[in-house]
Amino acid sequence: PRMAHSKALLVLENFIGGKFVPCSSYIDSYNPSTGDVYCRVPDSGKEEVEAAVKAAKDAFPIWSSKSPLERSQILNKLADLIEYELEAFAQAESKDQGKTITFARAVDIPRAVHNFRFFASSILHHVTECTEMPTMGCVHYTSRAPVGVAGLISPWNLPLYLLTWKIAPAIACGNTVVAKPSEMTSVTAWMMCKLLEKAGVPPGVVNVVFGTGAKAGEALVCHPDVPLISFTGSTLTAQRITEKSAPHCKRLSLELGGKNPAIIFDDADLSQCIPTTVRSSFANQGEICLCTSRIFVQRGIYSEFLKRFVAEAKKWKTGNPSDPTIDVGALISKEHLEKVRNYVKKAQAEGARVLCGEGVDPLALPLGNQKGYFMLPTVIAEVKDESCCMQEEIFGPVTCMVAFDTEEEVIKRANSVKYGLAATVWSSNVGRVHRVAHRLQSGLVWTNCWLVRDLNLPFGGMKASGIGREGAKDSYEFFTEVKTITIKH
Ligand code: NAD
Repeated sequence: PRMAHSKALLVLENFIGGKFVPCSSYIDSYNPSTGDVYCRVPDSGKEEVEAAVKAAKDAFPIWSSKSPLERSQILNKLADLIEYELEAFAQAESKDQGKTITFARAVDIPRAVHNFRFFASSILHHVTECTEMPTMGCVHYTSRAPVGVAGLISPWNLPLYLLTWKIAPAIACGNTVVAKPSEMTSVTAWMMCKLLEKAGVPPGVVNVVFGTGAKAGEALVCHPDVPLISFTGSTLTAQRITEKSAPHCKRLSLELGGKNPAIIFDDADLSQCIPTTVRSSFANQGEICLCTSRIFVQRGIYSEFLKRFVAEAKKWKTGNPSDPTIDVGALISKEHLEKVRNYVKKAQAEGARVLCGEGVDPLALPLGNQKGYFMLPTVIAEVKDESCCMQEEIFGPVTCMVAFDTEEEVIKRANSVKYGLAATVWSSNVGRVHRVAHRLQSGLVWTNCWLVRDLNLPFGGMKASGIGREGAKDSYEFFTEVKTITIKH
């Protein structure tokens, strides 16, 4: 692969059958914190996807016949190699995505490493079922086998983190893969490809095809030799993928958007709740599918909460993502920034109050970042539940705050959106916490905390937030085909 020298751009290449292959056309990729093009990404289509699927099919017989232990050792080696270059990966993720270097160092890259270690371990511990029917003289048991070539499509918000959350279980189970990262954040996937051979991943087991969703992504979804697609991204794209894959009856795992509520009762420990809810609203510029974007506060503490929350949000510093003292980096693109800003404008037009951030406070940026896609953490109050700001996923540093009176009322209001990914509940009453958690339409409920994850347990959303779950057992089940075998003596 060609690396940039002096002013030349970084040029990525597809990784197919263990080799880097140039593409006939390229797309520009921007550094969100400066607005400059800094990288060129292959604009792959059918031809490149065809070559990658063929390489993956050819590699399947050998890879799928390896023992889980052999595969596990290779995954662990890959984890070590990424960890060894953690700083380079973190720098690249921050530059490519706009996220702060602090977040990339603390969250993105360590989690990518952990994804490989976690599945390297968990693949060794699955047991299959067995039942007996003594009167029939029969024993039944199940066996699980890898499915084949898995198509993996990931978004731009947590690039390497989410891609490896799919690659690791897919190959641990013995599948081979063709992955397509977001065209806006392809660099760390390309860097990972450079480590595969050294880790002992045979050629063709992991292929990465770069390009847009419409061309490369759709070619993968429509390919007849790719029986399963694991997708993380927007609900709109998932609908298109479902449609396109229907003629092939593909197995789909869909991890989609959210409109996540935080419910704060008047007996909550505000000293914990406020900083955590500021973090759950604005971490990674609010570009995490699990970010809070509707805060329901019980009326008795509403005005105090609001005041303290805004004061805390104002402490978050926005600026150059490579500065380790910065909390909020740049949004992914100019278009996305405009979209997020427009939500704030719509809220104002509807009579809501913007308490801090966009249009209210000055945004001072260093000279080199003047053309970057920055926005201050923004808090909106007095928004109607029907407003698009309370119904649609904004996916930026914007959070809406409203008051509620009763438990019954808040459950109903929290559930009154099309999404159902994550929710947080804050209360010191354990009975209430259980009651509310059970009644929320949400794949994940965190009480008195946020984003504490045990990868063993299911992750995913209800309603328009997805189909299927990911996790130790769930990913194992998705990436394997089960068979029931009956033996009569
Ligand atoms: P997106 O749907 O625009 O794109 C996701 C991926 O799909 C990209 O790689 C894109 O190139 C590809 N794609 C686009 N159109 C395609 C098509 N027709 N066929 C095949 N592939 C196609 O999403 P995004 O804007 O990159 O990411 C943001 C979204 O992802 C948000 O809605 C966010 O909530 C969601 N998300 C969900 C989770 C989760 O785990 N539930 C995690 C992170 C992000």
